[in-house]
Amino acid sequence: MNDSTHLSELNQRVSAAKAEVEGRGETFYPGASRIHLASYPPRERWNDWVELDSKSWPERVEKRYMLVPTTCFNCESACGLLAYVDRETLQVRKFEGNPEHPGSRGRNCAKGPATLNQITDPDRILYPLKRSGRRGEGKWEQVSWDEALDAIAGRIRTALQEDRHEEVVYHVGRPGEDGYTERMLAAWGVDGHNSHTNVCSSGARAGYHWWMGMDRPSPDFSNAKVIVLVSSHLETGHYFNPHAQRIIEGKKNGAKLIVFDTRLSNTATHADHWLSPYPGSEAAIFLAIANWMIREGKYDREFVRRWWNWQEYMEVVNDEPGASFENFEEHLREVYSEFTFEYAATESGIDAATLLEVAKVVSTAGTRFASHNWRSAGSGNLGGWQVARTLTLLNALLGALATEGGTFPNSWNKFTPRPPRLPHQHPKKWNEVTWPREYPLALMEMSFLMPHLMKDQDARLDVYFTRVYNPVWTNPDGFSWIEMLTDEDRIGLHVAMTPTWNETAYFADYILPMGHASERHDLTSYEQYNGQWIAFRQPVLRAARERLDEKITDTRQVNPGEVWEENEFWIDLTWRIDPDGSLGIREFFESKKVPGEKMTIDEYYGWIFDNSVPGLPEASAAEGLTPLEYMRRYGAFEISNKVGRVHEQSVPDNELEDVRVDEMGRVYSRAPIPPSPKAPGGTKIDDDEDGRRRVGVRVDGEILKGWPTPTGKLEFWSRTLHDWGWPELAIPTYIKSHIHPENLESDQVPLITTFRVPVQIHTRSANSKWLDEIAHTNPLWIHPIDADRVGISKTGDLVRVETELGYFVLKSWITEGIRPGVAACSHHMGRWKPEGHKGQRLGISTVALNQEGSEWSLTPRKGGEPFASSDPDTMRIWWTDLGVHQNLTHAVHPDPISGQHCWHQAVRICPAKEGDRAGDVSVDTGKSQAAYEKWLAMTRSADRYSPDGTRRPYWMLRPVRPERDAYHLPLKTESAEV
Ligand code: SF4
Repeated sequence: MNDSTHLSELNQRVSAAKAEVEGRGETFYPGASRIHLASYPPRERWNDWVELDSKSWPERVEKRYMLVPTTCFNCESACGLLAYVDRETLQVRKFEGNPEHPGSRGRNCAKGPATLNQITDPDRILYPLKRSGRRGEGKWEQVSWDEALDAIAGRIRTALQEDRHEEVVYHVGRPGEDGYTERMLAAWGVDGHNSHTNVCSSGARAGYHWWMGMDRPSPDFSNAKVIVLVSSHLETGHYFNPHAQRIIEGKKNGAKLIVFDTRLSNTATHADHWLSPYPGSEAAIFLAIANWMIREGKYDREFVRRWWNWQEYMEVVNDEPGASFENFEEHLREVYSEFTFEYAATESGIDAATLLEVAKVVSTAGTRFASHNWRSAGSGNLGGWQVARTLTLLNALLGALATEGGTFPNSWNKFTPRPPRLPHQHPKKWNEVTWPREYPLALMEMSFLMPHLMKDQDARLDVYFTRVYNPVWTNPDGFSWIEMLTDEDRIGLHVAMTPTWNETAYFADYILPMGHASERHDLTSYEQYNGQWIAFRQPVLRAARERLDEKITDTRQVNPGEVWEENEFWIDLTWRIDPDGSLGIREFFESKKVPGEKMTIDEYYGWIFDNSVPGLPEASAAEGLTPLEYMRRYGAFEISNKVGRVHEQSVPDNELEDVRVDEMGRVYSRAPIPPSPKAPGGTKIDDDEDGRRRVGVRVDGEILKGWPTPTGKLEFWSRTLHDWGWPELAIPTYIKSHIHPENLESDQVPLITTFRVPVQIHTRSANSKWLDEIAHTNPLWIHPIDADRVGISKTGDLVRVETELGYFVLKSWITEGIRPGVAACSHHMGRWKPEGHKGQRLGISTVALNQEGSEWSLTPRKGGEPFASSDPDTMRIWWTDLGVHQNLTHAVHPDPISGQHCWHQAVRICPAKEGDRAGDVSVDTGKSQAAYEKWLAMTRSADRYSPDGTRRPYWMLRPVRPERDAYHLPLKTESAEV
């Protein structure tokens, strides 16, 4: 089919669809969204779209645009954006939603369009900078990319040549991409991946991982009958725009919404049942609901019989090999009998009758029970991982896993395509700083403990990248981070790769300016409904100029100043690390088409789209485009819109060869691994001793794919937890939080810090003037009863909040929207820069930073105020209060099992003292070491508890997996040799 025939067919289709809905008085977008979207530009006209210029009104002046898709980078949802590129100036005029994106379906939250503010921020970093004074002194000189690249590459090359692989660490905040950097680190042969996940979602992830072998929920909200959110997920949080629109769809279809949130959040206001429990008691409530459902027989017996690993549980825990299912059911009734509604009421402060009412609603869901916990209670509490685990218990009782309207595991609704030249090697050395043996079951790297672990292990990093990551501000105990970063014996070279100024970059050796959402390439796929999609982030001005037949070879040619993208940066850096290929690294970044040349970005993504995305080559061909052209034009592609019940699928005959079935029903086969377009990753299921590969599990005589867990079943009982020293926690149960009333002094209250205002995002949106105007501060939520008790008379009065490490001062907000006896403070405010430092002015206070020994203070000198810049709006700033950086005063609270930082704080609240000013912070880092040691004492180290002499269960997730030998603990290896 040629272009013009195809266009005419498309036009006919569009006209027919339009006629149908316009007949009903509506407008319609006939794209991948498959929902009613009003007034989106038809994609056939994206190349030359005409709008009237709003600023010229009442004159009718036409503006012509190229509409170029990209992906938002302001949270992990990766919603589609459409950049409106002015055809005359070739500048971006605005960002709107991309109706071709199956996840976000044309919609965005406020942060998506505010990308425009970020790219036009008058203070943005436009050139590579090198420090010229002491580290942290605030003196910078502009350097060339060549100079920075050579300096960094030279150090990495020397470290690798001297077998100091563990001294190269890449620490990522917002990844915003799938697999590019993991591939690179594997190619370098370093176990140097470090994430922010343990200050984010490790708690909930661990709860899911030990059930399903996959670590995220993917609820099918649109088709649910009952939705449970342990979060303020309708207004903010992980995947919230794609999820929020589907939650509302579900509600419109009659779903009941149950929200657990101690605050009256905007999400809670939309709930049919809002529960405001004492923080940390959520698991007790879920167990009470489970107990009631079990006793009342309101669970899916067949699902439990087929898919839970109850046989293993009965054999090991009850010493009943071959027990009948009925025996197990009897045991199940017993094991949860203590979790009555009365008990849950005592723990949560919610009356038993309300809990029974909610239990009844849950029990009506059947397999249409969509539930979600990501941060919230899962990341606030000691044992928070049991919140996700007990919530999943409800799904598992109802059989509502991987069902329409139920909750899917993430990996089945996500598609990470196989890239070209995938490294075959695994790092040989284990990195003890990121994966310490005291936390063998930590879901992800123990990144927030770095300052303490580095000291404990007397470790040193030669090259430390922080990439879109701001640990000084984001992590607890930020002053310890400053102490570490300014110690040149610990950190040889700190390279901050960031699109915006941040509190960590002030303590770098190089600051490298990276692109925003419309200035870089990335590939993403996230589990947002029962389907799979990929989305392509791209430098929109590059795509626009290429439409005009310009040849662009480097993203810096179109980005402002010398802003680069990481993809091209890493390729260039890798070539400089291994210029002659002698380290065996360069080959992974060489062109397949032109041997001996660098791989280009077009080739990298072109190869993926040609070879690894099912259906894309055909869809592109139908439009007369190459797959790369298709993705540059539309920005997203849906691979499947119904994934279904993967665990129930039969293993194909060609994967069954010389099969062995073990006593647990696990099926192993000698058939070769069939080629897959998907990148390998995730859980690693062991082969058997004879070298057969596990392909499935036998259930009622059929060989099915099952779950990627050690047993192939859903693990109600976790042998991993049992064998690694936590037998008492191996089934879903309740752990009393560190802020449980039993653990508080009489004058302490819990402080909730795990929420944010919906229009700000971590540390990358303070340079968005529109967002700053909407929300710029973070007062203390306090109930009138508590305000009265501590002597705060009115909203706005200053309060001092005392934590384990020190105190912070802020304004109060007296509200009945918080449970009495609990306080709350959003963590997304209080950005700062030290006096005398260069940097951003929007949304950032200037502070005096003082240190005397271990005593630190931060005192605001200047808040928000108008300033002259290239943007006249900066003279219109009317707000002054920019909030407080409370995380500086938080001690580290690593959960001994999941490794999650348990964010909630036990605090004392009092009226501000004489001399206190809003934004003041005072901390003694001497106390933070004591807190670290207190929590360390709760761990059960691999040295003592490992059942097999390894550092960590091999099957568990690992972003970059070292080779098998590296898993062995050194002491065991030595004694074995003796
Ligand atoms: S939810 Fe908002 S910030 Fe997140 S990707 Fe979507 S538009 Fe961007």
